[in-house]
Amino acid sequence: MKSLDQDAEKEGAESEEQAYVSSPSASVSPDAPSITVTGRDANDASTCRNRSRSRGNPAKEDINFTVKQFTDRALHSNISGENVKRQEYERTLHIRGSDKVLQGRPEANGNNVNNPRSKMNQDTLDNGVKLPRKKKPVTVDTSKAKTSLEALKISIKQLKWKEFPMGRRTACDIYWHGVSFHDNENIVSGQVNKFPGMVEMLRKINMSRAVRTMQELFPEEYDFYPRSWILPQEYQQFTAQICMVKENDATANHTFIVKPDGGSQGDGIYLIRDPSDLKLVAGSQAKQGVVQEYIHKPLLIDKLKFDIRLYVLIKSLEPLEIYIAKEGLTRFCTEPYQEPSQKNLSHVFMHLTNYSLNVHSGNFVHSDSQSTGSKRTLSSVLYRLAAKGVDIKKVWSDIIALVIKTVIAVVPELKVYYQAEIPPGKPGPTCFQILGFDILLMKNLKPILLEVNSNPSMRIEHEQEVAAGVFEYVPSPVDEEVKVNVIRDTLRLMDPSRKNQSIVCVLCNHRVLPRPGAEPSEEIPTEADLKASSTEEALPSLCLKQVYPKYTKQFNYLRLVERIAALFIRFLGVKGNMRLGPTAFRTFIRSCKLTNSSFSMASVDILYIDITRRWAGTMADSREAGMGLQAFVEAFFSLAARRFKSLGQRQQVLALLEQCEAQNLWEERRSVSCSRTLSGGNRTHVAPLSPAPLRRATSQDQRLHYRLKARPLRVGTDN
Ligand code: ADP
Repeated sequence: MKSLDQDAEKEGAESEEQAYVSSPSASVSPDAPSITVTGRDANDASTCRNRSRSRGNPAKEDINFTVKQFTDRALHSNISGENVKRQEYERTLHIRGSDKVLQGRPEANGNNVNNPRSKMNQDTLDNGVKLPRKKKPVTVDTSKAKTSLEALKISIKQLKWKEFPMGRRTACDIYWHGVSFHDNENIVSGQVNKFPGMVEMLRKINMSRAVRTMQELFPEEYDFYPRSWILPQEYQQFTAQICMVKENDATANHTFIVKPDGGSQGDGIYLIRDPSDLKLVAGSQAKQGVVQEYIHKPLLIDKLKFDIRLYVLIKSLEPLEIYIAKEGLTRFCTEPYQEPSQKNLSHVFMHLTNYSLNVHSGNFVHSDSQSTGSKRTLSSVLYRLAAKGVDIKKVWSDIIALVIKTVIAVVPELKVYYQAEIPPGKPGPTCFQILGFDILLMKNLKPILLEVNSNPSMRIEHEQEVAAGVFEYVPSPVDEEVKVNVIRDTLRLMDPSRKNQSIVCVLCNHRVLPRPGAEPSEEIPTEADLKASSTEEALPSLCLKQVYPKYTKQFNYLRLVERIAALFIRFLGVKGNMRLGPTAFRTFIRSCKLTNSSFSMASVDILYIDITRRWAGTMADSREAGMGLQAFVEAFFSLAARRFKSLGQRQQVLALLEQCEAQNLWEERRSVSCSRTLSGGNRTHVAPLSPAPLRRATSQDQRLHYRLKARPLRVGTDN
């Protein structure tokens, strides 16, 4: 029996075929084949056009906006005429690209637009005029898209890609998940819009820990995150701190915000002024969460507190690629703000900006305009601030810095999850993810990170009370404006044919191909390269701005914990593992040569037991035994402090890292050297870092070689 999927697939394939023959009416430019066609797509096109009609405020256009990023707001796909450009472009690609493709870059998924041997790629009319090549559309499995579905459908339509709403028996190019990496199991190819571990990593406790580690190393750079304590473990430290502050200043009356771990939409959040107001238990269970310094002087507009929702795309972890959406949302409270006092602590509509809460206030204003109402575009707010003389260029660049630094803080642990799920050698999939950054502007315009959402709402409807107590979802122009663009442009950046096209483009532009050992930033095509290389001409300019590797130089020095994570992963050994066992930890110590007369292997074991025990008590889910990355980082800091006592903490860590990396690099080279010796290779090709040990007996090398060959990652058997 045929599955529904098969039917859907067949039907889709036919209509796609048709789509190429029956493009919308087009007067053809001299370059394009002279054909005039009409058809079904014209309707589709107008649907798209209507859905994404420009809602620009003409008055706003008059303002001479100082930041270029925000001038680029007309992001809608102008579908009329799009196919003409597409045809022109495809033909151009064919002519320009054909000799390049002859160099042989066939694409596994059949998206190679340049393969001249492919029948799909070229049609010729009787009069010899070449028709544009038919490119297989990119396929997207939307069966798990959940609340993103509506925005995703519009995006796919605008791109003329092919949607599989029921999933597909064969592989798709892109899988769009609504919640996590695991929404679809057993994906081995293509690209998934979620990273493994992102949900766990961005929960409030984990996120606070990751940022805190960075605060230890770089206190000034990470001052954008409010001081936080983890509950229940750090309750004592929290109360001790408050007592100390009060002793020093009896009038001090700080406010704190308590957030349950894994909570969202403001659920379970409350404000306190005294540690005794903490609700530490729920039933018989200790409540896991964070208590955080409350930012009591936020920037107000119309006397209301608001926060910014910024969409950030992590396009890849290795090399790290981050994009920021030029347009975002601002969510407004619905009760005028007053600094916290015992009287108003429970006024959620005054203190919490969550849409999900405020929508239930009688004061919530639904507006079709982007610059009024309880939800507005970020650009409309920035315009308003610019009109008041605020240096919004500075605000924007501070926001970019905050985003890059936050991503740098969470990437190390993400890499651990990633290698466990998709170890080297596994064919795929690869991942990307849109994150929702919630940012508060302080009165002095400093951006503060509130939290990062792994699964930001991509709904383009909002709840509206249509009758007393009756809520319905109605289209929300502001949400649609922002979110469709973010999804569509994310898809554009993830277009699998783009990878090949950009390589071809690099060749076309006679750019030098990456040198071995070159900085990753040099290897990644720029946005301009990408634009020049694909069907982009037919679409509005990207609403996503690349910020990393673009700003590598400014931020690369912060990536210290990532280097510690690389060591950690190296010694994990067994595929799928995320914790170091005691043997693996000893192997790490031994191969980095960290023992000496005052630090024996027995001390190493004590350190291991001490740290893992403590962390086992702090982890909500400590089913897996062993040392996780955050515990390993703590051990690493402690080893660094022991070894390089006279240095400051950052220098200690850096010095230890350099020692470990040098030792491991040398070990690696030695193992390569050994294997070459054994296979008759010439040892002189390898430049060892430390020549002395190479003079040791060959038999020793051989033993090492066999050990490394059998278990290339130094397996700790207890893992
Ligand atoms: P949730 O995931 O439940 O939305 P958030 O951390 O985003 O939790 O907090 C909810 C809201 O509380 C935010 O949108 C913001 O308005 C307010 N808020 C959170 N943290 C702070 C803080 N440290 N200072 C001031 N307001 C805060």
